[in-house]
This record gives sequence, C-alpha cells and structure tokens, in this order.
Amino acid sequence: MSIAIALDGPAGAGKSSIAKRAAKALDYIYIDTGALYRTIGLAASRRGVEPVPSAAVDEMLAQISVDLTFNEKGEQIVLLDGEDVSGLIRTPEASMMASKISAIPSVRAYLLDLQRGMAKTHNVIMDGRDIGTVVLPDAQVKIFLTASPEARAGRRYKELIEKGMDVKYEDILQDVITRDYNDSHRETAPLKPAEGCVMVDTTELDFEQSVEKIISVIKENI
Ligand code: C5P
Repeated sequence: MSIAIALDGPAGAGKSSIAKRAAKALDYIYIDTGALYRTIGLAASRRGVEPVPSAAVDEMLAQISVDLTFNEKGEQIVLLDGEDVSGLIRTPEASMMASKISAIPSVRAYLLDLQRGMAKTHNVIMDGRDIGTVVLPDAQVKIFLTASPEARAGRRYKELIEKGMDVKYEDILQDVITRDYNDSHRETAPLKPAEGCVMVDTTELDFEQSVEKIISVIKENI
C-alpha cells in the first residue's frame, strides 16, 4: 500500500518548498495541488469565463483537460490541454484567480479523482488546503503548516522580487489576507486543520529548520 502525507495550510506558509525537500529526502513524490486550481484559473482567464458558479464554468470543465506529469528532475509539470503551463500559473493574478475558482464545487469535484489517483499509485506528500480533510482523509500523516500573515507575505515578496517581478510588500500582504479569508470562509472544503493533524508553525523557523521539523513529524508518525 502506498503512503500518503497530507500537508495543508494557508498561502505562503512554505508548504511547497518545504514539501519538495522533504519528499526528496524521503523518496516520495511531491504533489502541488494548488497548481491544478491555478491551471483551471488560467483556463478561465483565457476564455473570459467569470470565476463564479455558472454553466459557463461547467461547460469549460467539460472541454479542457488538466494533467500532471513529472520532468527528468522529478519536478511536477502541469498540463492544460497538453500545454506545459507550469510557469504561466505563478503570477499574483493567477493566484487570485485560483483562489476564486477553487471556491466552485464543480471545480473541486473535477480535480478530486486526479488527486486521489496520484496517491493510489505513488508514495506522496500532497500539498493543498483540503488534502487531510477531503482528498485523502485516510492519509497516514496529516500536517497543518502555518505561519503569521506577515511572515508569509515577507517570504512570498522575497521570492517574487528574486524572480525579477515588480511587486509591493503591502500588496502581497493584502493578497495573503484576502486569500486566507476566501480559503477559510468558502462553503466547499474550507481551509481548516484536519482531525488528528499535527500543527506546525514556521513563523520562528528558517527553511532548514522547517524541513527538519516536517521530516521528523513524518518519521514519528508512519
Ligand atoms: O497553493 P497555492 O497558493 O498555489 O494555491 C492557489 C489557490 O488554490 C489557493 O489560494 C486556494 O484557493 C486554492 N487551493 C485549494 N485547494 C487546494 C490547493 C489550492 O482551494 N488543495
């Protein structure tokens, strides 16, 4: 039987970079489910479809294909109708679109099988918002990773600046707060700690300390 680690938490808690490193150390596959919502957000932007529950969204879902694959380095590639959109989905606009589109129940249902299928066939660390609560409630280890909004905004700001993007800290902080609110107040699969999860707060931890902490929580619980 494959092993599943569910890693949930708010935007910018460091889930993806921490999980990538932990997955490498443990020889698991890292799955970033946020990329799937971002991809559907991108599809909606391209088609001018409003990110609200509607026949237009359902029609779009019936027409597009979203898939996950891995490159030779083992990094996740997300495909929209066969096109690698992994880079295009990383802008602040795509983040906000993903947050809106992910509140739509038909979008969440659309992505459920893809996510569960990955966990059936591989040992995974899956990162998202509802992995421990909805997607993989039977995961062997469930972790809720968080940090203060200011710490999370500061990290994301640094990341985007290093990528050469022209962004302001205040805007990023506001985005973090808005996305936290959207993610935790939506009716379908709101962001909340899963029953039986281990809470890990990284506000005072640096990257290496956070990775160590996650690996030790996983090792203690499998
Ligand atoms: O993790 P990331 O910031 O890339 O996620 C983008 C958006 O996708 C989040 O703001 C959240 O609204 C949504 N999401 C979700 N459920 C997941 C993963 C992401 O609703 N499992």
